[in-house]
Order: sequence, then structure tokens, then C-alpha cells
Amino acid sequence: MHTKLLTTSEQDLREAGAILRGGGLVAIPTETVYGLAANALDERAVRSIFEAKGRPQDNPLIVHVCDTAMIPALAAGVPDAVRSLAERFWPGPLTVIMPKSDKVPSATSGGLDTVAIRFPSDETARKIIAYAGVPLAAPSANLSGSPSPTTAQHCIDDMTGRIDAIVCGEDCKVGVESTVITLAENPPRLLRPGAVTLEMLREVLPDIVLDAAVKHRLKPGAVAASPGMKYKHYAPKAKVVILDGSFEQFAAYVGEHRQTDAYGLVFRGEEQCLDLPCVSYGSETDSLSQAKGLFGALRRLDELGAKQVFARMPSKTGVGLAVYNRLIRAAGFDVIKL
Ligand code: AMP
Ligand code: MG
Repeated sequence: MHTKLLTTSEQDLREAGAILRGGGLVAIPTETVYGLAANALDERAVRSIFEAKGRPQDNPLIVHVCDTAMIPALAAGVPDAVRSLAERFWPGPLTVIMPKSDKVPSATSGGLDTVAIRFPSDETARKIIAYAGVPLAAPSANLSGSPSPTTAQHCIDDMTGRIDAIVCGEDCKVGVESTVITLAENPPRLLRPGAVTLEMLREVLPDIVLDAAVKHRLKPGAVAASPGMKYKHYAPKAKVVILDGSFEQFAAYVGEHRQTDAYGLVFRGEEQCLDLPCVSYGSETDSLSQAKGLFGALRRLDELGAKQVFARMPSKTGVGLAVYNRLIRAAGFDVIKL
């Protein structure tokens, strides 16, 4: 399949919309990560997303809208809390799970009776949804298992020959996937942390709880509330280990344990202070910069041929929780307390 590269010109966005309306697959920029979009209501189109990504069929997709008026048709009764969440966080990087209507095919919901809905803030994404004229199912536009794409080049690397088109927009501003919460149960639960933080959500949903799978490996046989959480994710080819300690302790540990093709995944400015090739993923005191840099840094480590990666530990509060959630999965939950 030839994959057409489109710009963000109005004419190209209109073309992207037409491809999507016709059942095709297009990678599109959003503020979180690049998404691999298809008409969420077209079962056949949605199935081809799973094929292009190599994604397990039971992992449901997020449905993207460009207007809250599109939601009642997708949901079997819109929960009351959606209005206050929308006022505060939409458009933006928050996904809300609610009971689904019959219009949403089970391919989109991974066989569940719920649907995950997001109203992105990225202007290009919103225009593409509007030109398509249908809600768009869009998981991250990477091959399943590899880090999510945060630049058009990442999509080109992963998806050339597998999809109809890629809209080459700007680098993603947030850099990690959306926050996912479910309102389909009581109390509401945070399933995946993102740029809309637990602290921010508590101001609107005081009783929201944190799903155990956010910070910990699921116990064998446990059912994942968010099926995506059970898969190995975001992983570069190298063996990654997170070192929880000061920079001095990190440097000492790495000196003793490094093998061939070892790299550091460190905070900006630390590269020069280590006798180890390093890739940085943001500044130590700025979780937003870490979120923006993490997936690109993981891809860079693959390009460099890293076999062993020692990572600095992010903070677990605010947006840091989203960074930690992705990094522990990249590390297969291997964290060493120094
Ligand atoms: P991605 O498409 O890569 O951004 O991942 C979407 C995430 O949302 C995955 O972890 C899914 O398992 C989760 N998700 C989507 N829809 C639902 C749903 N109806 N119920 C629970 N989790 C969902
Ligand atoms: Mg993904």
C-alpha cells in the first residue's frame, strides 16, 4: 500500500477527512501523541487499525469527537459528571469511559459494553474530525508494543506501507497519551494517568480512585479494567532498569553494573557528568518536559543500538505520575531502590 504524506494545509486536511469517511486509515497529529484514525462507526475500517498496528483485538480504542454534541449518539445515557468534566478539561487530553450505544461497533470497544471518548484540543485533529464528519477511533499510531509516536517522522518510521496517509503536523505538545478515567463504575476510577492529573480531577470528582494497575504490575490472572494496561508497552529493544536514588547513587551504580552497549536515560544536563553515553528525557524538575521527551528518547535508544538502559526515576506526582506509568512499563516494572 502506498502511504501518502499530507501537510496541514486546508486542502490536505480535507483529503484526510475524505479518506477517513471512505473507510481508510490516516495517522493524525493530536496534542498527546499521533493517532491512527479510522471511522469509529465503520466496523471494517476499525478492524484494519488493529491489523496495521498488530494490536490485540480485545484492546479497545478511544473515539475522538470535535464537538460534545457528537457524544449522545455514542453513549447509552451520558453520565452527569461529563458536563462538569467537559467544562473544565475539554477540549484536551482527557478520555472518559461511559456505557456505549448500539451505534458503536464491538470492534471499537474491544467487545466491552463501554466506549472511551475524547475531545482533543489540537486544532489539526479537530479539523480532520470535522472534515471526516464522523467520530474517529484513534489509538496511538505506532506498531503495537513500541513507544507511541510524538513526531510525524515516528509515524513514517512505523506506518509507511501499512496505512493510506499520514498528516505531517507539528511535534506533539504533551507527548504522552491522554488521561483515561471511567464513569461506568462507582466511584469513578483513573485507569491511565496523563497531562490531566489526578490532583486536577479530584477538584471535579472528589471521590475518584486510582486503579492499582497505574503503578503496579497486574497480578497473574487479574482482569485489567483498562485492557491496554496488561500489555507490554512503550518498550525499546534494550533491557531498561529504573534506578531510584540520587544522581550520585545513580552514577556509582552504573559504574559497577554497566555492560556493553549500556546507555543512560537521564535528565537534561546530566549527560556531561557521566562516563556513559546518554539520552536525556526532560529536565529533573519539570514533569511536562519529561512527558514531551520520553517516547522520543526511547526510540532514540533503539536507533543507537542500546542493549542495557539505566533510567533516572521521575517524580510520581502531577504529570510525573504519567511519566512514571509509561517508564515502568518500558522497564518491565524493574525498579531498583538505591
Ligand atoms: P491507545 O489507543 O493506545 O491510546 O490506548 C487506549 C487505552 O484506553 C488503552 O489502555 C485501552 O485499554 C483503554 N480503553 C479504551 N476504551 C476503553 C474502555 N471502553 N474500557 C476500558 N479501557 C478502555
Ligand atoms: Mg498506544
